Amino acid sequence: MSSDPGPAALMPTAIRQDGPRHLAITWADGHESRYEVRTLRLACGCASCVDEWSGEERLDPDAVPQDVHPVKIEPVGRYAIQIDWSDGHTTGIYPFRRLREIG
Ligand SMILES: [Zn+2]
Repeated sequence: MSSDPGPAALMPTAIRQDGPRHLAITWADGHESRYEVRTLRLACGCASCVDEWSGEERLDPDAVPQDVHPVKIEPVGRYAIQIDWSDGHTTGIYPFRRLREIG
């Protein structure tokens, strides 16, 4: 598929808070993605938010505070970032490919 970005494009060159409610990622190919932070929290694909076997979502959106925000963002190898959230959730890993898809 020609619109599928290649692996090199899937590396962020910059990740920054864009005001209190948004996170912005600039990609190696110049594309910029902007995320509402609570949407990112709800999109968490970790084992405690999504059932590993059925793919069923376990996360109750009503249990996530409206003002949830990242408290720490760390790179995970060369393929993902880990976000520690203000609601105490610290197991969320966001692969770059997934971020690019939902951006
Ligand atoms: Zn999670």
